[in-house]
Amino acid sequence: MAGRSYKTEAVVLRSFRFGEADRVLHLYTRERGRIGAVAKGVRKTKSRFGGRLEPLSHVELMLHQGGGELQTVTGAELVRSHREAREDSYRLGAGLVGAEAMLRLFPEQEANERAFRALVRFLDLLDELSPVKRATGLDPLVLSFQLKLLWLSGYLPHVTSCADCGAETGLAGYSPTAGGAVCGACANGALPLSRDGLLGIEGLLQRPLAEASDAGLTDRGAREALGVITASYEYHGGFRLRTLSA
Ligand SMILES: [Zn+2]
Repeated sequence: MAGRSYKTEAVVLRSFRFGEADRVLHLYTRERGRIGAVAKGVRKTKSRFGGRLEPLSHVELMLHQGGGELQTVTGAELVRSHREAREDSYRLGAGLVGAEAMLRLFPEQEANERAFRALVRFLDLLDELSPVKRATGLDPLVLSFQLKLLWLSGYLPHVTSCADCGAETGLAGYSPTAGGAVCGACANGALPLSRDGLLGIEGLLQRPLAEASDAGLTDRGAREALGVITASYEYHGGFRLRTLSA
């Protein structure tokens, strides 16, 4: 084969059927960031890839880059299967929100070691995640992961003082155009943000992913954090996550 082969760790973010027996994979790789690749014959019973290329799998791949847009998977070994995450509906729902956030916020073929590590850490924690009595989109781990991705993308909402006038007290809303929380005087047209929401977002931003459930998020705080995240997606990226509207 002409072209170049290389080895990289990768996470399968999404996969589509392609032709009779193949799949197209959307991958986030350690070496090159986001790439698309085809896994040939992966849907055959005796595929040499076994069940190693399922969504959320953390794998080590041999990839071949030819002339086309899609690379070709020529070898796959499991680092972690994340079967525990995939086979539980709550965890799977949470994982697919994280995978879609990754796809939308890091669409470039460009390595980002911190984003890759955050993704891998998120998936490791997902394997042991217990459901909270809220919708998946309001889970502290899922909210924390998305806030961290926003931060790594440079879209971190600023919530400790008014993003418009700098006031440190009387914060009352969130304005994506201002880039963060705003005080009562500047809150015209902003999303309402209570003390629960402000403390919840700050708590999530200050803690590592593994401690997201210790951030003291109330139901109201979780709803408002999600509101801030979706408003940031819409304002900065012009998108909504399909997995969050389910
Ligand atoms: Zn203000």
